[in-house]
Amino acid sequence: MPNPPSISRPIGSERVTGMRESVIREMTREAHKHDAINLSQGIPDEDETPARVKQAAKDAIDTSSQYTITWGLPEFRQVIADQYADWKGVSYDSETEVTVTSGTSEAIVSTLLSLCDPGDGVIYFEPTYESYIPAVQFAGGTLIPLDITDGLEIDPDALQAAAEDASILILNHPHNPTGNVFTPSELELVADIATAEDLIVVTDEIYEHIVYTDDYVSPVEVDGLAERTVVCTGMSKTYSVTGWRVGFALAPEPLSAELRKVHDYTSICAPTPFQNAGVEALSLPDDYYADLSASYERRRDKLYDGLRDVGLDPVKPDGAYYMLTRYPGDLDDTEFALRLIREAGVAAVPGSSFYTEGTADWVRFTFSRNEATIDEALDRLAQNRFW
Ligand code: GLN
Repeated sequence: MPNPPSISRPIGSERVTGMRESVIREMTREAHKHDAINLSQGIPDEDETPARVKQAAKDAIDTSSQYTITWGLPEFRQVIADQYADWKGVSYDSETEVTVTSGTSEAIVSTLLSLCDPGDGVIYFEPTYESYIPAVQFAGGTLIPLDITDGLEIDPDALQAAAEDASILILNHPHNPTGNVFTPSELELVADIATAEDLIVVTDEIYEHIVYTDDYVSPVEVDGLAERTVVCTGMSKTYSVTGWRVGFALAPEPLSAELRKVHDYTSICAPTPFQNAGVEALSLPDDYYADLSASYERRRDKLYDGLRDVGLDPVKPDGAYYMLTRYPGDLDDTEFALRLIREAGVAAVPGSSFYTEGTADWVRFTFSRNEATIDEALDRLAQNRFW
């Protein structure tokens, strides 16, 4: 191909030029290149997926390889609605209020494209999961980051001031990259301000079943929130099927009706065999979920102790499977992460990728990997310490 291309007009719409690539996925590529143990992108090991869920997907390929209706397989939407009623006491009509998407990221993008007009303010808490920023930019919204780095707490005055200029608030709970679980009183504050300022709330609850504190409540359990909230969540983390790309959006009918328009024309439907397997997954017994959190809690403690032993300064999370970790010295976070890959053979994500702009003095490790892999990563860090 000719290079540069023989197109003389500027290439790239205003919407995407200047947008950065995902640093999380870049770190995974860098880890592969240097044969490093990947504790950057939150990817579980293959053996984490429950065997009967995998089997259900294999069986479904023989019988169910065509489109489902665009909102998702009816039996799957029903089991999702039943489980959310059971887990959170909130009823969603599976016909009109549950939409199966191609991953939770699609749920978030479809929601923002359908509910955010150009110029609308969108609040999110920083550090932030990186994909909210492009999702708001795709919609032409105005970014309103609120920094919670110090103390990982919501500042009521900052939230109130931001809300006066906003239409939408994105709440990731448990929170990636910090593993923070917002307290019930913080969620009540969000509910009060969202109601007073008439905000639509978009929650990303993909880590809702990976929680290590009794203090966890889902935002939709807080008075007044469910009726103005689009819940975006999915199968990836709960059942360790990140590559299946099955998410779902739960929202009152008027909100669901709008996001369904974008979903319909962008992804048509989520992969059918994996929706079938989703019926099996969401029918797993209750102890599956208790075991999931218990198993990640063991890995959290192992990584936390191990990082401290090698002279790093991690923050112990209450949910999700990430650990914000400070390091001694004055290397910039990207340089530190690149040296970790090249010199220690372990990949993490530079903290700055979780901010709208600027640098950070920490990196994020994941403990989504099995214990043997975490042990090996800790050995490598101990043997190749450059900090
Ligand atoms: N959610 C996962 C993470 O934070 C992976 C998503 C991604 O590829 N960006 O690492």
